Amino acid sequence: MSSAPHLVIIGNGVAGNRAAEILREKDKDCRISIISAGPLLFYNRYELPDVFKGRQDWRDYLENPPEYFSDNNITLRRKSIVADVDTERRKLVLAHREEVSFDQLLVATGGSGYLPERLQETAHLTHQFTTYRSAMGMYRDLPKGGRVVMLGGDMIGLDLARTLIETGYHVTVVPGDRTFWPHEISAEERPKYLSALETMGMEVINHGEVERIEDTTGSAAARRVVFVSGETVAADVVVTQYGLAPMVDFMSTAGVDIERGLLVNPQLKTTRDEIYAAGDVCQIWEQESNGYRFYYGWRNVRKMGEISARNMMGEEVPFETEVDEHLIIKDDGSIDSPFWEYSA
Ligand SMILES: Cc1cc2nc3c(=O)[nH]c(=O)nc-3n(C[C@H](O)[C@H](O)[C@H](O)COP(=O)(O)OP(=O)(O)OC[C@H]3O[C@@H](n4cnc5c(N)ncnc54)[C@H](O)[C@@H]3O)c2cc1C
Repeated sequence: MSSAPHLVIIGNGVAGNRAAEILREKDKDCRISIISAGPLLFYNRYELPDVFKGRQDWRDYLENPPEYFSDNNITLRRKSIVADVDTERRKLVLAHREEVSFDQLLVATGGSGYLPERLQETAHLTHQFTTYRSAMGMYRDLPKGGRVVMLGGDMIGLDLARTLIETGYHVTVVPGDRTFWPHEISAEERPKYLSALETMGMEVINHGEVERIEDTTGSAAARRVVFVSGETVAADVVVTQYGLAPMVDFMSTAGVDIERGLLVNPQLKTTRDEIYAAGDVCQIWEQESNGYRFYYGWRNVRKMGEISARNMMGEEVPFETEVDEHLIIKDDGSIDSPFWEYSA
């Protein structure tokens, strides 16, 4: 058995893959394993709205050719859910009970679509748009030119809404606290941004809190959104977009500090020396506010992957964002966000 250190990354997303790339660049001999719950190779989720533009083959979304992992001597374990981390024994416990030893660990498990408690009972009547699979599920259920009711909004959802409108669908946004997540918009400024959505072709309705979703399959539209006020809206598809919640449950007994995300110092190290975290899963210490905060978006997440890897290799580099986080209204009245910037 090899005596090279085993560096294990949980998560096959932007942060995890960038970290693996840097680790391999810095050390040709270390063992690198990426463990991922998902079934696919590393693919681009930013472009998933393109399924509505006819780009439906999952291979079109791959970031690297399939041979990338073997060419770089990176072991990728797919469909493997990490259920527990035993820090004393330095072992991950997979859901199917297998144990994987590690010398250093990077947690890059991102976030899953957040769903408010009151909607959980009817979640099966709604769609999420977080993975290739869920994107295709929504595509299949939505008739051509049909009506999407988007609960919440968030910048991922609003990006999808832009493509839906461009490709001939009707989008109704039911705004909530997280409509512009991860941007924080004050109550005074909200109306201005909501009317910008209307300028962009979305219908914005304010009937108050959603009470439930009903299955009306067989009638003109498959779903009905019922508000506490008694008002209703018909939809072919209801999609929930309330931002992301960090995927940290499996770390609950790992002996690291967690608030909502894994708490890390500016070098992206958790409260244990051998465990780092990067991407949407972590909250980074910020001296200025005397607290921990999330940094979202492709550029931040990719940089976190890089910084965590360099520090795992013995450097002492702090994470600093280069992203201007402001949501702006352009001259044509539409909104633009650094969160929508993506370059391969
Ligand atoms: C449809 C869509 C569009 C988006 N568009 C944009 C955009 O335009 N611009 C932008 O900046 N951001 C966008 N985002 C957000 C962006 O995708 C995330 O911020 C980014 O992917 C986070 O990267 P990450 O590496 O932290 O985690 P992720 O990319 O979420 O990767 C997490 C990985 O961890 C794995 N995982 C989770 N839990 C476990 C476990 N217990 N065991 C094993 N594996 C596990 C998952 O399978 C996955 O491989 C979009 C997101 C979506 C879903």
